[in-house]
Amino acid sequence: MDFEFSEEERIFQENLREYLQKTLRPKIKLIDNTGIPRDFIRDSSKYGIWAMPVSEEVGGQGASFVMTAIASEEIGRADFTMATAVFFLLESGWGYILDKYGNEELRKEVLPNVTSGKWFLGISSTEATGGSDIANIRTLATKRDKKYLINGQKMYVSGVMEAKEMGGGHLTLVKTNPQAKHKGISMLYVPTNSPGLNVSKLENMGRMGISTGIMTYDNVEVPERYLVGEENNGFYYSMDGFNHARVLVGAACLGSSEAILDMGLDYIKQREAFGSKLKDFQSIAFEASELKTRLEMARLLVYKTAWMLDHEEKYKDDIPTFAAMSKLVAPQVAFDIVKSVMMWMGAYGYSKDAMIEMAYRGIMSYLVGAEGALNVMKLIISKRILM
Ligand SMILES: Cc1cc2nc3c(=O)[nH]c(=O)nc-3n(C[C@H](O)[C@H](O)[C@H](O)COP(=O)(O)OP(=O)(O)OC[C@H]3O[C@@H](n4cnc5c(N)ncnc54)[C@H](O)[C@@H]3O)c2cc1C
Repeated sequence: MDFEFSEEERIFQENLREYLQKTLRPKIKLIDNTGIPRDFIRDSSKYGIWAMPVSEEVGGQGASFVMTAIASEEIGRADFTMATAVFFLLESGWGYILDKYGNEELRKEVLPNVTSGKWFLGISSTEATGGSDIANIRTLATKRDKKYLINGQKMYVSGVMEAKEMGGGHLTLVKTNPQAKHKGISMLYVPTNSPGLNVSKLENMGRMGISTGIMTYDNVEVPERYLVGEENNGFYYSMDGFNHARVLVGAACLGSSEAILDMGLDYIKQREAFGSKLKDFQSIAFEASELKTRLEMARLLVYKTAWMLDHEEKYKDDIPTFAAMSKLVAPQVAFDIVKSVMMWMGAYGYSKDAMIEMAYRGIMSYLVGAEGALNVMKLIISKRILM
């Protein structure tokens, strides 16, 4: 057993951290107010970070998931609002799925534009009638003359405005056989600027740098080649995508919350009350010890799962459980860290000046439901351990 990063992974982490701390970290307030700067997305593509697990043939790095998790953690650390990490992990997870299951024409049409930072790629699955119960989606795609005609509506989809403005689109779950439940779902790539597709933004409480919104499909036509993989297999591709994206969510939460914990530790080392440093109150020191320990526990789980994804064939039966465990644990640990640090800082922690609230709002999205609600993670785990 070896818990060390390889030389290549270590150097990648050091270089990326240095670059992001210089370029992304100072822009956090700007990101929270006006969005991820487009010039950052373009410039950082030279580091090969967008959709990095995608194969080199279509502009990616063919990066391992351990390497991708390292990048996710560093992006979360630099932009602890989580907005840039969301942008990153959607493109990595769903770019990987498009590369794995998409036909050659589609892969070559979309992925080089994503890896170069020109286009956005996301996932469109959730509907107003419920997000967890994917088998019951209602958006319909009917095949006619080598085209799919799509009608329906998706909700709470990340990156709708980015895809509209930058170009790109979403891997979209549609019913191609409405009588069948999950076996009647297909995955289509749908460019956001398709005629008949209207998007509107929803106001969220956090991760303001990336939009979330409604997508309404009114007779949207896409060519047959935009079908990802085989018809009626989309549910399985989406589960594969969620496994990968959930690990990257976990990694982003590690980075974001560690950045906040470091700020908190610095604070309690210098702040005084009743003639003592806060760090010398055992109640605070013990809380810090516990949070640091839980963070390291989450890190072990997240990187073990990333490593399992890199040995997919061997661990395919366990990957969904471990990805769910990572998504269950890391956001909760991260949230507890951010909440405690805010309380250590007292009134200052609650103020916008301290910037802790940005991480609080961002991480909360992963407790609520983005990339799957926490109870759904428990459902996946319990099904496996109680079978
Ligand atoms: C910020 C943000 C960004 C998002 N981005 C995207 C995106 O890019 N693309 C996309 O398709 N979707 C996106 N979503 C939606 C996300 O996938 C859904 O929120 C998630 O799947 C949960 O669905 P829901 O919100 O409809 O809640 P519901 O499915 O209605 O669940 C509501 C509550 O019931 C619980 N629950 C549900 N089923 C069970 C059960 N069987 N047992 C016990 N408890 C249960 C859940 O845990 C949850 O607490 C995003 C959500 C957020 C908050």
